[in-house]
Amino acid sequence: MEKSYPGMEMQPTNVTVVMPPQVFGKEPTQVTCGNCKNVVVTTTLYQDGGCVYMSAILLFCFCLPFTFVPFITYPCKDVTHYCPTCKARLGTYKRL
Ligand SMILES: [Zn+2]
Repeated sequence: MEKSYPGMEMQPTNVTVVMPPQVFGKEPTQVTCGNCKNVVVTTTLYQDGGCVYMSAILLFCFCLPFTFVPFITYPCKDVTHYCPTCKARLGTYKRL
């Protein structure tokens, strides 16, 4: 006689997203989203990171008028990658 376990096939609802090791760069990257499982090209968002503040401090010390430059230019910023479908944060490219 076969016993049935109601609810045993149910997946837990609080799913932890386990991402495979993924190296993100500065550009949008094609990845499989760990959240919605779609193959997507990430959307990127530039954010102030350690490199921005480090550059600003150096400029503040040596070239005061240009202290603001790292905050308004992209080359120093960290790049955060998001899934365009489910908006999950997939990874960050850090300059430092
Ligand atoms: Zn997704």
